[in-house]
This record gives sequence, structure tokens and C-alpha cells, in this order.
Amino acid sequence: MRATHLFYCAEPGQAPETESGDDGRGLESREIEVCRWSDNEPGQSPPGYVGLILRVGFSYDHFAHFRTGEKKRAPEYQAYKTELALKLVKVVEKIIPGLSQAIDFMEVATPLTYRDWGHRYQGSIAGWSWGADWTGTFGRKLLVETPVRNLLLVGIYAASELFMGGVPTAMRTGELAAGLILENK
Ligand SMILES: Cc1cc2nc3c(=O)[nH]c(=O)nc-3n(C[C@H](O)[C@H](O)[C@H](O)COP(=O)(O)OP(=O)(O)OC[C@H]3O[C@@H](n4cnc5c(N)ncnc54)[C@H](O)[C@@H]3O)c2cc1C
Repeated sequence: MRATHLFYCAEPGQAPETESGDDGRGLESREIEVCRWSDNEPGQSPPGYVGLILRVGFSYDHFAHFRTGEKKRAPEYQAYKTELALKLVKVVEKIIPGLSQAIDFMEVATPLTYRDWGHRYQGSIAGWSWGADWTGTFGRKLLVETPVRNLLLVGIYAASELFMGGVPTAMRTGELAAGLILENK
């Protein structure tokens, strides 16, 4: 893999065995994001090492039963998520030969992680999920301006539905908020 950032599907066109990837079967047919974070942030890993992130989408419900409370997990969770991550590594090994042998440190995050440590709605990372039908209450709009004077919202949840997603949403809503502040100066 020569690219810093790659979206990879080992077996395109094959239908996944289950929508959420279940126990890791079907990962070959799903889009996997592979990104060498240390290319742009060299301090992210020790000298001589590479910081690599592998990401594949999973539904919150797939992991929900492991969450026994705020930042609390069922005993099987650690082994389950590690096994799933190793299956992901195996798939990516097709484009990065020897990857599993080269790992010195691995951290596995799931939607539960993003929920509890990131305060994200159902562990989402790029904005409201398409399934967040209750956002219909707000209508389809940007939520940067609020009814509270001088309170502006920015970031991925500052749109009532998934809109662009991720960094572009965060940047666009930030730009709109900055514009409002400058207008009212
Ligand atoms: C593995 C992964 C890969 C991704 N890849 C991409 C990609 O390729 N392209 C893309 O566009 N997006 C990608 N994303 C999504 C993108 O990173 C996020 O959607 C984006 O960073 C959200 O920006 P934000 O400013 O809304 O929130 P954040 O970047 O999460 O910023 C929120 C900040 O608020 C802080 N905070 C939270 N609670 C409090 C509190 N109570 N008090 C004070 N501070 C607090 C947090 O520490 C954080 O710094 C990826 C995300 C992940 C996890």
C-alpha cells in the first residue's frame, strides 16, 4: 500500500452475509478505510513505527448488548472486539502482506467507545445516522443558529440529518458560525 489513505474492498460486488458484518463474516465484501495517520502526524507513533487505522462501519445495535452502563462492558466484550479486529487485519493483509505479524500495539474502538468517550449519538462518527428518524422533529436544516442569543452550534451534529458528513460538515458549520459572528460584530 503506497497511498496514505485508501478505501479498500477485497471482494467488490459480493453481498455481505449480514448487513452489519455480524461476527466478521462478510468483511471481504465491505468497504474498509485504511489510513497511515503517521504520514501526516509523525509524532503519532514512535520512531520506526507506523500508525495505521483500519475502519469499517458497524451498527450500534450490533454492540449494544455489551454495554452494561456508562463506560462499563460485559466481560466478553474485550475478546469479541479483539477477534473482530484481527479478522479485519486479515482482510487488509491482502494489500499489506505481513500486517498481522507487524503489529506491536493495537487499540480497538467500537460504536460503544465513541458513545461513551466521544459523547456521540449511538457511537456515530460522521454525523446523525440515516436511522436517526427522530431528527425529523427539527426538519431538514442546519442548526448553527439557535433560538438562544449568541449560542451557535458547530460540528457534525449541527445539521439535522447526515449532511456531507465528517470533517466537511464540521468545517462548513464552523465557517457559517464564524460568518455570523463577523456579521454581528
Ligand atoms: C477512525 C475514523 C476515521 C474517520 N475518517 C474520516 C475521513 O476520512 N473523512 C472525514 O471527513 N471524516 C472522518 N472521520 C470523522 C471525523 O473525524 C469527524 O466527523 C469530525 O472530526 C467531527 O468533528 P467535530 O468538530 O464535530 O467533532 P470532534 O472532532 O469530535 O471535536 C469535538 C471536540 O470536543 C471535545 N469535547 C467533547 N466533550 C467535551 C466537553 N464536555 N467539554 C470540552 N470539550 C469536549 C472533544 O474532546 C473533541 O476535541 C473519521 C472518524 C474516525 C473515528
